[in-house]
Amino acid sequence: MPDKKIAILIGPPGSGKGTQAKLLAERFDLKYLGSGDTLRKRIKKPDFTGEKLAKVLEEGSLAPSFVVIKLLLDELEKFKEEKGFKGVVLDGWTRILSEAVFLDEALSWYGWDRDTKAVFIRISPEESYNRLTKRRQCKKCGNIIPWVGEFKEIERCNKCEGELATRIDDNSDSIKRRLEEFEKETVPALEYYRKKEKLFEVDGERSIEKVFEDVLKIFT
Ligand SMILES: [Zn+2]
Repeated sequence: MPDKKIAILIGPPGSGKGTQAKLLAERFDLKYLGSGDTLRKRIKKPDFTGEKLAKVLEEGSLAPSFVVIKLLLDELEKFKEEKGFKGVVLDGWTRILSEAVFLDEALSWYGWDRDTKAVFIRISPEESYNRLTKRRQCKKCGNIIPWVGEFKEIERCNKCEGELATRIDDNSDSIKRRLEEFEKETVPALEYYRKKEKLFEVDGERSIEKVFEDVLKIFT
């Protein structure tokens, strides 16, 4: 049986790692697991953690690591029981070093540590800032138009022709804070993967297609 493919996508805000993660999952018929979606799903459960988590996320703070790790491990456990599971692309689960360490431990527990690769989508803080302040969202269908490549020229939603507006949550203070968090918290996680020789870097300051070509090279 071939080893399960485990891809861990890491990148600063605006790096497009979510997009790349979904493309990668689709290409190799892997599961896509995003921390954002999973946290939003958890909020819907009206218990203590669900309600507290809703407040924390609303403030724009990071969810505590133990909650993040618990959600991740519950999902991995489900995958382990699933027939035909080929692997998973993980998006947004290793924001800090301790999360990377726990994930590593879990992957070796399940016997999935042989084909694990962490992909760092590198963009400069300036590029990050521009992409976050200039990306737009469709007022009608919610589609997000990234500030990258040909999308910069789009005047109406490419899905429904709806009107576009700058996303309100992308204000400069929260962006600066997220960029600082990345430098302070996530870069040590990157270094951890680098030491284990599991880290692969991709230049993220190009079109989605070009970046994806490089991501594919890592996995083929
Ligand atoms: Zn639209």
